[in-house]
Amino acid sequence: MRDSTRALAEWIAAGGRQIGEVLIEAGDAGFELRHYADRARDDLVLHERADAARAIATFDEAGRFRPLKTAPNLRRGWRLRLGSLSELREALDHLYPAMIGVWLSHQRGELQAVDLRETLARQTGMYRVTQKITDSQADELIGRFCRSEDGCLKHILWRIDTDRPVTTLPPDKLRPAVAGGFLPLLCHEACNLLVAQAREVVKKCEAKP
Ligand code: SF4
Repeated sequence: MRDSTRALAEWIAAGGRQIGEVLIEAGDAGFELRHYADRARDDLVLHERADAARAIATFDEAGRFRPLKTAPNLRRGWRLRLGSLSELREALDHLYPAMIGVWLSHQRGELQAVDLRETLARQTGMYRVTQKITDSQADELIGRFCRSEDGCLKHILWRIDTDRPVTTLPPDKLRPAVAGGFLPLLCHEACNLLVAQAREVVKKCEAKP
């Protein structure tokens, strides 16, 4: 068993029940997953293969592509019954790619957060211009784009720069909770979508007379 799958098993045995918007119920026959907002529904469409999670994760309720799998817009109306831990791991990798491994690295103190300035310094080509974003523009953008309500469910572990934290998000967004049956989704480096948004901010600024 891979380390991260074993860690997942231990987390469930210790009472772990929710990852992002997904509830996990463990029973004698295996595991059942559903959207947490569907916890009281009994009219859900049943799936029994782990790869069904890929289709569930790809489009939102309105059929639009979900470029960010950690956005709070996972569709509802399904339940996924899985017979084994490896199938559970596969389904979670479709729903929240790489998040179990990132969480385990964090648990072990091996996860290296990369500050935004460092991420932007690595950009080349059309994204090199993102290096011109100011700290306050970046802070405003992060507060708008990454917020949990309608942006992204991940907790942010990086700063804007070594001595410049993010100030536009609530403290719990920047410090993942360790209890309560939740496995936190962690952001240790700004994603491409945020970098693309930073480019838009700079471009808009440069276009102003
Ligand atoms: S930068 Fe991180 S927290 Fe922000 S949207 Fe991208 S993945 Fe989510």
